[in-house]
Amino acid sequence: MSVTVVDHPLARDLLAQLRDERTPPPRFRTLTRRLGWLLVIEATRDLATERVEVTTPLETTEQERLAEELVAVPVLRAGLGLLEAVTDLFPDTVVGHLGMERDEITLQPRDYYAKLPPMEGRRALVLDPMLATGGSGTAAVTQIKGAANPKSISFVCVVAAPEGIERLETEHPDVPIVTAAVDRELNGVGFILPGLGDFGDRLHGTA
Ligand code: URA
Repeated sequence: MSVTVVDHPLARDLLAQLRDERTPPPRFRTLTRRLGWLLVIEATRDLATERVEVTTPLETTEQERLAEELVAVPVLRAGLGLLEAVTDLFPDTVVGHLGMERDEITLQPRDYYAKLPPMEGRRALVLDPMLATGGSGTAAVTQIKGAANPKSISFVCVVAAPEGIERLETEHPDVPIVTAAVDRELNGVGFILPGLGDFGDRLHGTA
């Protein structure tokens, strides 16, 4: 399994603004969408293409068109922040939804909603901005594998903790992770340090 940290200067700048506690929800949404573009571009850099003939105003030339489509699976609610980045870049993307919430005492994920489309031949992008304990991310991938048969699965997040990476890597070694940062550690209640706080609250203005 691989972990790719998107460390483009623009990604670093966008992440710094997301981390800033003074960033209000409207700006947080815009920054997430823009950082999402960079993450999604990285997560799809090896999509299959096919050679096609294109006639320009001057001559005919052999070019490449995409030959593989996507399924985006945002993990509710925070994952919704990354969804438009996928559909902006790949408008034919089909969207499934997984509702997972974390029991604040046990830190175990509990799934409360699932609507997954057929995925044959497609790449599934699991969108879950904070890979913290890895509980919900791992459960999301397990659920997708059980319910559908995507060609491949990639995990897209904004910040990952070493603990979450290790868990996802152990349980799903075939799933590459694309993130903008690997942070230091989790605190006692499962929040990433330095992190950016509760992503869902900051995105949806519910803090
Ligand atoms: N979920 C969040 O939103 N933030 C964290 O730091 C960990 C999990």
